[in-house]
Amino acid sequence: MRKKQERSGISPVDDEILGKYAPKKSLNRKAFHFIKKYLGEAAAEYFEECNTFISFLTNGDKSVKRTYKANNCKNRFCPMCAWKKAKKDAMKLGVMLEAIKQKEDKEFLFLTLTAPNCQAEELSDTIDKFNKAYHKLFKRRNVQKAVKGYVRKLEVTTDQELKITRELYHQKREYFDKRGLKMGHDNPQYDTYNPHFHAILVVNKSYFKKNYIRHDEWLNMWRDCMDDPSITQVRVERLKKKGSSNGVLEIAKYAAKHDDLLINEKVFDVFYTSLKGRQLLVYSGVMKDYAQKYESGELDDFKEKDENAYTHLLSAIWAKSKYIQELRALTEHELQEINKTKFVEEVEDII
Ligand SMILES: [Zn+2]
Repeated sequence: MRKKQERSGISPVDDEILGKYAPKKSLNRKAFHFIKKYLGEAAAEYFEECNTFISFLTNGDKSVKRTYKANNCKNRFCPMCAWKKAKKDAMKLGVMLEAIKQKEDKEFLFLTLTAPNCQAEELSDTIDKFNKAYHKLFKRRNVQKAVKGYVRKLEVTTDQELKITRELYHQKREYFDKRGLKMGHDNPQYDTYNPHFHAILVVNKSYFKKNYIRHDEWLNMWRDCMDDPSITQVRVERLKKKGSSNGVLEIAKYAAKHDDLLINEKVFDVFYTSLKGRQLLVYSGVMKDYAQKYESGELDDFKEKDENAYTHLLSAIWAKSKYIQELRALTEHELQEINKTKFVEEVEDII
């Protein structure tokens, strides 16, 4: 016999737990209008209905939470699903790096490879060129000697400012100053796209003494592999795991920012046709081995245990523009099932 359910009624929409979900569901609605022309009937329905139902394990005062069930569409262009995947990927990467550091005695570098912006119609070919150039770069003898594995992420941004705004000027000051451009002038990069790679590289602890590759060597090699002498920037540094330049979060976050992706339908179409079907996150070498270990449970010792005691289930149903919530106590059977040892599965820092 199931216990009689305890109901506490409806909570306010700005609730701690659902606060971040409602804006993502609104973005999913916006994306749906842009993407539906590409999808069959069933896929369109999944996308539109994505996360209309979510439930969380929590306690009576909702001070803890763990995601429980939801109807995820799993489409990479869905802002809700991309966000959820980013939170899980960040957790996975953090655990993998800690395990590699301890078990393999390695260090990490954070590498960013860019090229000048391209036009919308060149984006797909430019991404192909990036992929080929990356492979060439990692076949170089000195790189093969130094790098034991990597995780690589493709990201694309777009500049959709017709005029140079204050914010844009401060972002790309060097670029504008070089060309004598000031705030309020026409933006020469208007409607251009910038594909780039972020990568975490695994190197021996001795890297800084042996097999070290200088910044100018990285830059020259990347120029060579891209066959583009106009490239001026390559960033390579020791991986920072904390603070604003957290490399793990940088790699885990979405391939295209929502602000860029959903700015208008024309821009969405460019992102969709250029990124669809591509592998966005690529593991290689020791990183690939550890990604498999993570999935098979071999790295569980490195995961943080979820010590919270869950007593309640919070269910939320999407009703036009907000989630309607309901809280009930877990049944005896559910309590036993749910409070077995679990691990923390996602990071909260990704917005
Ligand atoms: Zn979704």
